[in-house]
Amino acid sequence: MFTIGCHLSASDGFLAMGQTALSIGANTFQFFTRNPRGSRAKAIDEQDVASFLALAKENDFGTLLAHAPYTINPCSKDERTREFARMTLSDDLQRMEYLPGNLYNFHPGSHTGQGIEVGITQIADTLNEILRPEQRTTVLLETMAGKGSEVGSRFEELREILNRVELSDHMGVCLDTCHVSDAGYDIVGNLDGVLAEFDRIVGLDRLKAIHINDSMNPLGAHKDRHEKIGQGFLGTEAFERIINHPALRHLPFLLETPNELSGYAAEIALLKDLRSE
Ligand code: FE
Ligand code: FE
Ligand code: ZN
Repeated sequence: MFTIGCHLSASDGFLAMGQTALSIGANTFQFFTRNPRGSRAKAIDEQDVASFLALAKENDFGTLLAHAPYTINPCSKDERTREFARMTLSDDLQRMEYLPGNLYNFHPGSHTGQGIEVGITQIADTLNEILRPEQRTTVLLETMAGKGSEVGSRFEELREILNRVELSDHMGVCLDTCHVSDAGYDIVGNLDGVLAEFDRIVGLDRLKAIHINDSMNPLGAHKDRHEKIGQGFLGTEAFERIINHPALRHLPFLLETPNELSGYAAEIALLKDLRSE
């Protein structure tokens, strides 16, 4: 099964997202757990969730990906900011239990001048406070572009965080194609080599989802500006190799390209076309 979808607005609820996904040819989607800039989370509407779960079952949906708000930073030098990240992550994970068995992705954080080592320690400490043995959600560290003081643009940094998390069975990684290219990993010229390096350092068994985005900037630019599929520095042929790669093809692919729904529908159609049997 090819699990493909895109980021959708969560404002109208889960059933509406499921219906929107179907209308653009998707069988999964990504959503923000709350306003990406703000902090307020809407209460879970259990009827809406139940209706969505029925729709998802009928239509063979793949794994969903929830995304934490961009504004949280578990390794800020400001303790109140770290506390806010702990509260938000913990609350999101409780609400994710209404949709058991899915994925929750977050940006590891920016160390804001404290240094990578302190950043990694604070991120792992946060995870050790919020993860629960009984949770049914897998928490993903997103590979980052390395903009500013971002932690997680090197595979070694992700490995180090995973090493320090006690309940690391509940942890995985989401690979963002724009971010890894911006971080300097040549997935256009040497996809096999990058995946071999990922496997050696992190382990391919940790890889649970792909953010499929082209990049407005060349290899190693550390910018994090997503581009539409085929219109950036990665190019259509690289995506054809990515979605068909034996180490990746079973994963859910989520678009976060600068698009309206019609643009997403076109990209999903294109990727389905490029997908081999
Ligand atoms: Fe992200
Ligand atoms: Fe991403
Ligand atoms: Zn990004």
